[in-house]
Amino acid sequence: MIDTHTHIYLSEFDADRDAMISRAQSAGISHLLLPNIDQDSVEDMHRCVEVYTGFCKPMLGLHPCSVKDDYKDVLSRLKLYLDSDRCYCAIGEIGLDYYWDKQYVPQQHNALSTQLEWAVSKGLPFSMHTRDAMDDAISITKDCVHYKTRGVFHCFGGSTDQARKILDLNCALGIGGVVTYKKSMLEDVLKFVPLDAIVLETDAPYLPPVPYRGKRNEPAYLNYIAIKLAEIYQVDKQVIIEKTTANARSIFKLA
Ligand SMILES: [Zn+2]
Repeated sequence: MIDTHTHIYLSEFDADRDAMISRAQSAGISHLLLPNIDQDSVEDMHRCVEVYTGFCKPMLGLHPCSVKDDYKDVLSRLKLYLDSDRCYCAIGEIGLDYYWDKQYVPQQHNALSTQLEWAVSKGLPFSMHTRDAMDDAISITKDCVHYKTRGVFHCFGGSTDQARKILDLNCALGIGGVVTYKKSMLEDVLKFVPLDAIVLETDAPYLPPVPYRGKRNEPAYLNYIAIKLAEIYQVDKQVIIEKTTANARSIFKLA
């Protein structure tokens, strides 16, 4: 399995990072894809990539909740990393978030367009966060990317109609712990989504699957998401694992 979106460089894992990585490997995970969220998190992320060489792959981006007045300066500093010798597997995490703060909506739009253009010019996929902003994120993606690269709408929680629009853009849905929650509508939406368009993710340390709600999430729990998807798609868990791993390898160009 591949955890296509996980923040294991955060301090929540400082006490037991090695043990957590071992649990992920024992659970059958081959790669962790790490999105930074701001400028400060880049070095912590790089450190994990160096310690767990080959297992952790970095992304680079500015999270919409980190877009403030100085976002243009931050973007130009992030661009220096992107233009360096380092290999990033995607632009992320990027997106739109109207839930926490609507003050910077125009700046968020700008930052998103700029970073999607980076994805196109570098030939990289992207990892997109949206909260209360799915339609705008889809339309900006359509304008900027126009089938020139692919991406994942991470932690997808939208409608069937929005899922269709994302598939029309040749993008995929990142499915995580939310799919195991009783109140989630995702199960109904997924009935219209082919397995070709799904990748697994935890978004650890956030959004743990049942039975770990309220606790810290970690990559090994990907297993619970695969089990739930097997139930929804009525196939063997191994089919879910093989399909979603192949999808992630293809989108993020992993060897
Ligand atoms: Zn995230």
